[in-house]
Amino acid sequence: MDPGKGLEWCVKNLLEVFERSSRVLEESQWFPSDPESTRWWGGVETPLEIIVTAILVKLSRWKTALTALENMRRRGLLDLSRLSRSSIDEIAEAIRGVGFARSKAWTIIAISRYIESIGGVEALKDMDTAIARRELLRIDGIGRETADSILLFALNKPVFPVTRLSLRVLKRYCGENADDYRNVGERVEDALERDLYKLKLLHAGLTSIASRYCRNNKPLCGSCLLGDGCLYRSSGQAGQ
Ligand code: SF4
Repeated sequence: MDPGKGLEWCVKNLLEVFERSSRVLEESQWFPSDPESTRWWGGVETPLEIIVTAILVKLSRWKTALTALENMRRRGLLDLSRLSRSSIDEIAEAIRGVGFARSKAWTIIAISRYIESIGGVEALKDMDTAIARRELLRIDGIGRETADSILLFALNKPVFPVTRLSLRVLKRYCGENADDYRNVGERVEDALERDLYKLKLLHAGLTSIASRYCRNNKPLCGSCLLGDGCLYRSSGQAGQ
């Protein structure tokens, strides 16, 4: 990578690598599909399942979140009206493998009640992006990363969720020296012309790289797909 070429050039370069790396993405439970498909997100089938797992996965592993989702499915809980009327105990019991099960149970109930009150997921989809984000952020337990993941993958809004993991790879690979999450998000959205497919692919690729190779300590640069062009690696900061 050439640091002088900037973030816009860098993210396009990353997309070219991720286009050729579907196996690595799939092993990390991302399934590149049609731009509006729910399958991108762990192969799930409905926007509600994406919303629920976006809450479950916070500070938990994908596999644990998907197991909890399957438990909820078996108990017939993956229905807006059913969730809205459930107790915290009932949901917490179904998702008990994830961390902070009771507070996540409350968040799932709260968001279900909110979505039901406005007429369903389609009504949330129809909202302006900034308004939908603001409404999501009002719900106890939903922060910016979770809200933006829901906007992109469940509601198909063209936003780039700047997460701790994606920012780590962007900083290392692109030499991006940015701590302002919003600024990076908007620049990536501009660079990709708010193209839903590209935004989803970039997020899926960065998250896969961060969880498989680009660990916080001792990144596995020798095996990483991005090793050839990575500024962090070429700077000699990486251990391998
Ligand atoms: S080459 Fe190393 S530092 Fe660069 S993205 Fe891969 S794991 Fe991270």
